Amino acid sequence: MGSNVKRYSIIGAGLAGGVLANALSRNERVDVQVYESALEFSEPRDIIELSHLSLKALEGIIPSVVEALKAKAGASVMDEAHVVLGSGPETGVLIRDLGIRGMVMDRPLLHQTLLSPLAKENFHAGRKLISVEQTASGVVKLEFENGEMAECDVVIGADGTFSRVRDYILQQDAKTHAAHPAGWWECITSVPFELAKAALENEAVDMDREYQWMGDGIYMMQAPSEDRTHVLCVAVLIEKWTPLERKTIVMKDDLKDRLAADQFEHPAAKAIAKLMLNTDNLEAYSHWEHKITPSYARGRVCVVGDAAHTTSLWQGAGGAMALEDAFILGTLLGGVESANDVNDIFKTFDTVRRPRCQRIIDTSRETGELCCRANAEASTEQLGDTLSDLSAHIDAFDELYKLKQFQLQ
Ligand SMILES: Cc1cc2nc3c(=O)[nH]c(=O)nc-3n(C[C@H](O)[C@H](O)[C@H](O)COP(=O)(O)OP(=O)(O)OC[C@H]3O[C@@H](n4cnc5c(N)ncnc54)[C@H](O)[C@@H]3O)c2cc1C
Repeated sequence: MGSNVKRYSIIGAGLAGGVLANALSRNERVDVQVYESALEFSEPRDIIELSHLSLKALEGIIPSVVEALKAKAGASVMDEAHVVLGSGPETGVLIRDLGIRGMVMDRPLLHQTLLSPLAKENFHAGRKLISVEQTASGVVKLEFENGEMAECDVVIGADGTFSRVRDYILQQDAKTHAAHPAGWWECITSVPFELAKAALENEAVDMDREYQWMGDGIYMMQAPSEDRTHVLCVAVLIEKWTPLERKTIVMKDDLKDRLAADQFEHPAAKAIAKLMLNTDNLEAYSHWEHKITPSYARGRVCVVGDAAHTTSLWQGAGGAMALEDAFILGTLLGGVESANDVNDIFKTFDTVRRPRCQRIIDTSRETGELCCRANAEASTEQLGDTLSDLSAHIDAFDELYKLKQFQLQ
């Protein structure tokens, strides 16, 4: 290997790490190794919704991937989503029609499709990173829990919300800026289409459409899934305690107190709550977020995806941001001549990405506050306008334009 050959290590093979590995592997002059702590992948929730902009970013890395996702992961266009008041005097009033937002697909199959182009010998499962050290010569040393060590020129941490690489970047400030519960938890289940249809008694429900129900201290969503053979039901509640873990199993009895069907007045929302109460051992996820992150990079070490900017789930933008990161960083690193240029590239990435991702974290939290306040003073029109304003910037993906400006300097 010549002195210009760069050895990249990606920590974590989730959405961000998997897609970035695809982007970097296109450059024959670099050697990309991916280290993943899990032996097998387990994904939160079976389906994922990705915005059309993030899919565009993905196509920039893996051409024709959308066609492959349609064929292999059942990706289908997400029809309009209606946000409706589920309780209070104006129950049933349509707050906003969110329009077509992207595609919904099977999450494990998405993951498989994204990892399949990668060479098996460059992928190391069962390697949990425990420490990172940059030496004066620029070489970065990695240590894994199983005792193995590795050396490289560049490290990209795509190791999720509780990232070890993030801790290294933030050093003594890591604890202050660690992920915290955002104030909600959500409960997810998927019920057969026919069962949902019977329970809903065709009440205000067009099964091709996602419905979101705003309640008082609670929010619910129903969406067609798995090629319309099932209906995904999600309830989000205000978290009144501080959870230690993100994922828990909620027992039926436990849920009864918290998810009372009478919290909603709209018959369809009531029916969804009842369906959920009839499910055994529901999975529940606490929403966590990085309230603020002072930097995404230190020297030749950088973080992407949830490791950089975990957000509450209200705007469903976490996966999309991970894909955008992979696209932007993959593009920037594509022009690197020497490993020493990487410091500047990471600074540019930090400048371009941090404000956008921070804004999404903040507007996602504000969206949650709004969605659980159906009975607030605001008129339905004001509620709708605020909801639209909070998400308008997500579609303003002018990163590429900014990127060109930076490259011209
Ligand atoms: C219930 C739920 C529903 C969601 N729904 C949506 C949705 O519909 N749309 C959307 O856009 N987003 C959604 N999200 C958010 C989305 O899942 C994340 O934003 C996205 O997965 C982030 O990708 P990532 O690659 O950064 O992190 P992850 O997917 O978390 O991947 C991190 C990887 O790093 C590995 N790892 C961790 N620590 C180490 C270590 N020390 N060493 C080596 N490897 C390590 C992990 O095993 C994992 O494979 C949802 C999240 C949840 C919890």
